Amino acid sequence: MNIINGKEIADKLKAEIASEVQALRSDKGRAPHLAAILVGNDPASETYVKSKEKSCHEVGMSSSVYRLPETTSEAELLEAIDFINKDDEIDGLIVQLPVPKHIDVNKVISAIAPEKDVDGFHPMNVGRMVLGWPTYLPATPMGILLLLQRSGIETEGKRCVVVGRSNIVGTPVSIMLSRNQAGANCTVTLCHTRTKNLDAVCRTADILIVATGKCEAITAEYVKEGAVVIDVGIHRVPDSSKKSGFALKGDVKYDEVASRCSHITPVPGGVGPMTIIGLLKNTLSAFKGEIYPHE
Ligand code: NDP
Repeated sequence: MNIINGKEIADKLKAEIASEVQALRSDKGRAPHLAAILVGNDPASETYVKSKEKSCHEVGMSSSVYRLPETTSEAELLEAIDFINKDDEIDGLIVQLPVPKHIDVNKVISAIAPEKDVDGFHPMNVGRMVLGWPTYLPATPMGILLLLQRSGIETEGKRCVVVGRSNIVGTPVSIMLSRNQAGANCTVTLCHTRTKNLDAVCRTADILIVATGKCEAITAEYVKEGAVVIDVGIHRVPDSSKKSGFALKGDVKYDEVASRCSHITPVPGGVGPMTIIGLLKNTLSAFKGEIYPHE
């Protein structure tokens, strides 16, 4: 069994991005710039935004964080997005989700200029992804495809089962892996809570991708001997043996599944570090005008 070291792969990709940023910076006179809007005080969102800021700085990109209070109205948030959309010195814009309940998330996603939508959530970019046009691919699915490629895992003709159909992970990764392109060409089955005999369906998978948000729900009986298992889930569970008082667990019961697999991603250190790579790659693309050429 091989453990897919997401941290190591992400570090290599960061070094590649950093050298490209350095070259472009001297050419264009400024670095790519990612802006993030954070509404409210959700501690997990604060952690994600800080880690995105840190990663930008590690690769030589500029970053700005616009922190808005929980009481920000939808109109005020849309105004802030419009302001950043019009700033020529900002290449990529993300609004950290979730936004407070009184704000319509679909309006927020649609308000971001498609050419700055480096999360790849705007309907225009999702549509382009579905059609196989050049686009900003959503960060976590892009990270998963890169993990498979960089680990030398053949995808062509493989049977892939994705468990979970969210708009940010399960659905896009299922589409991306079924496309007729290098690093894809899988035969994909997308599962969810209404799937019957989930364990039997999962056992057909050469590549099993799990994004259910249910801690350690995928156990050994869901996994075919020799399968590749990609665990997207992240859960903090109390653990008095750890200094922090908690341990991180995935959606897969790693201890019993690992011995059945040919490859498996650990939690932490698997898919997690790759998500930021997707965001950095999209910001670099935006800076270069690769998807929407600059006028
Ligand atoms: P969502 O909660 O949005 O979606 C979960 C999906 O899983 C739904 O489609 C749901 O089905 C399905 N599901 C839930 N329980 C079961 C079950 N028992 N059997 C079959 N299907 C089930 O989750 P996300 O996609 O946003 O996230 C999934 C996990 O990945 C979470 O743990 C999250 O923290 C983590 N995550 C990690 C990231 C990273 O960078 N590593 C990035 C993003 C997420 P239905 O549609 O029928 O309700």
